[in-house]
Amino acid sequence: MVTATLFPGRYVQGPGAIQSLGQEVSRLGDSAFLLCSPTVYRELLPEVNSSLEKETRVIAEKFGGECSDEEITRVTGIAKKAECNVVVGLGGGKTLDTAKAVAHYLKKPVVIAPTIASTDAPTSALSMIHEPTGEIKRPLWLEHNPNVVLIDSEIIVRAPARFLTAGMGDAISKWFETDSCRRKQVSTSSGYKGSIIAYSLGVMCYQTLIKYGPKAKKDCEAHQVTRALEQVIQANTLLSGISFESGGLAAAHSFDRGFGLLKETHHNLHGEIVGFGTLISLFLTHKDEEIIDEVYSFCEAVCLPTELADVGLHKVSNEDLIKVAEKVCAKDSIIYRESVPISVSLVVKAIRAADSEGKRRKAAA
Ligand SMILES: [Zn+2]
Repeated sequence: MVTATLFPGRYVQGPGAIQSLGQEVSRLGDSAFLLCSPTVYRELLPEVNSSLEKETRVIAEKFGGECSDEEITRVTGIAKKAECNVVVGLGGGKTLDTAKAVAHYLKKPVVIAPTIASTDAPTSALSMIHEPTGEIKRPLWLEHNPNVVLIDSEIIVRAPARFLTAGMGDAISKWFETDSCRRKQVSTSSGYKGSIIAYSLGVMCYQTLIKYGPKAKKDCEAHQVTRALEQVIQANTLLSGISFESGGLAAAHSFDRGFGLLKETHHNLHGEIVGFGTLISLFLTHKDEEIIDEVYSFCEAVCLPTELADVGLHKVSNEDLIKVAEKVCAKDSIIYRESVPISVSLVVKAIRAADSEGKRRKAAA
């Protein structure tokens, strides 16, 4: 059996790490094309430029707001004209996915500097392409993972804590999902089977979140960089990223597609839906009471959704839940990576069970 593990080239994290951006970029080339999210362009660019300009020539461009084929073509054209030999993405998920795609088409190295820790996308060799109107269009599999992922924890704590919490929702699923993929010997996005390190990082990610998550959320709200916060940023980004890419996703992530059918849920961040999807998956896969209690306690402590009302579905009809379940049970769905029987009625039953447990615990608190 052939296994594979995908890694980013380097992972740099800590307070003030942005000051090392110039040094990291200069390992790869002498001229940087910097794609920034609009907020970063407005507020952070002078700080970043002072580090970058010491080491390289810099051309900065503001991200247009959607990681679409149109935006990728626009940005690729500007970067090509600027004759830069390194692409740098600075901002949130869609800015970073666009920077990764631009580097892929230009065949240049890419440095990714997230300003929020809301998903595990920064480390992966994948960009999610959207329609200009925002709907998901297709995944773009990239030739290689980012050469450098650089996270300044002092920048992460400037953002609302909701982003860090969503990142924890995205990451808490990984132990359960990679374990399901391991049992079923699922091939991952690399085309090979998952590796020991990917499965082990899923477990480590879970343990780190349970131990440090609630404190990290409070520290983030207080805009303080602490050990707990550093541990959680690493769990949300590096541990979760490697475990999903080389271990595989399963039931929890299938609910992102499913609930996406109902517009009442569209205000949620990816990790908020995946966190609730994880709770549903615990019932679907008949987990022990102690584990269910531990994950609910965690979600309650960090303010992740624990009932349908928390994701915007206060009075959801049975017909709508059936639609969600039908989407979740579509032929190509990753839910079939679970080693339990899967059907529309079983999925609806698991959604109702997760919702009831969330309600019961809140009433008892
Ligand atoms: Zn995810």
